Amino acid sequence: MALLEIKNLRVEFGSTASPFTAVDGLDLNVEVGEVVGIVGESGSGKSVTSLALMGLIDYPGRVKGERMAFDGRDLLSMSEKERRSLLGKDIAMIFQDPMTSLNPSFTVAYQLIETLRVHQGGSTKELRARALELLKQVDIPDPERRLDAYPHQLSGGMSQRVMVAIAIACNPRLLIADEPTTALDVTVQAQMLELLLQLQRDRGMALMLITHDLSVVAQTAQRVVVMYAGQVVETGRVPDIFNAPQHPYTQALLAALPEHNIGRARLQTIPGVVPGQYDRPSGCLLSPRCAYAVDRCRQERPALIGAATAQVRCHFPLDQAGQPTNGWSKIAKQ
Ligand code: SF4
Ligand code: MG
Repeated sequence: MALLEIKNLRVEFGSTASPFTAVDGLDLNVEVGEVVGIVGESGSGKSVTSLALMGLIDYPGRVKGERMAFDGRDLLSMSEKERRSLLGKDIAMIFQDPMTSLNPSFTVAYQLIETLRVHQGGSTKELRARALELLKQVDIPDPERRLDAYPHQLSGGMSQRVMVAIAIACNPRLLIADEPTTALDVTVQAQMLELLLQLQRDRGMALMLITHDLSVVAQTAQRVVVMYAGQVVETGRVPDIFNAPQHPYTQALLAALPEHNIGRARLQTIPGVVPGQYDRPSGCLLSPRCAYAVDRCRQERPALIGAATAQVRCHFPLDQAGQPTNGWSKIAKQ
């Protein structure tokens, strides 16, 4: 049984008559102790998925789904109270910007101790010792002194480490990290990823890493889920996806990575943007931006096909050599 099992998740915003579908029929499993990377551009629905999981989509947003289960327990049908006891304890989350997640009015010690008190209890002295232990585990230099610091006295990297300490305080079995390195300096980014992986290994914790950056996934994850416009367009093992992506969108994301752009004047990017509420094409959602689109793509929306370990949503998945299978390249060459 998967640790996390999401089946046919939908998240809608706006009026019921013409809703904006931010997540559109998402299936996603995370196994015990696994590192899964969720990749996509801004607007792909990856953050909304994690917010739905954490029960953080407020009215008028609507969360529907066939199943959203953690360790076999259905999150969609459980009471608000049960769900709250699960979140922050078995499932924890860290966000991109530590400055907006930490409370500027309280010391690091206070924020850690209050988290521990809610879920574990104990005397303030015991909890303070446990808070210090957590700061050591996230490699904060001079932890005794940092314990009594306020968030504004910490660097961005150190604040993010405090966020990680708060997130792991209750020994979660799943940690969701949404763009955990995006707000950090380049030199600190690699250290943050290394810390997350070290904690994941030491604790046997599953890690869901949400990022727009495929190179982050390459360094960390075993499996990758590529999202576009609220849907999964490709999933598979990291080496397979990096060696031979089957979806044109994944191929384009890989081509935009810096190592593929050495010596070029500017980064190669995919022209256009993710479709919004009023410009969702009727066929394949990528068709206005896809270099290989043909008439069928503009008329018929592709389904996700393949085995659970490697799936792709395209009428003409790319072959091992990265060529489209609709004869597009042959036509173009003639
Ligand atoms: Fe491109 Fe067509 Fe595949 Fe969509 S279905 S990704 S438009 S080739
Ligand atoms: Mg986001």
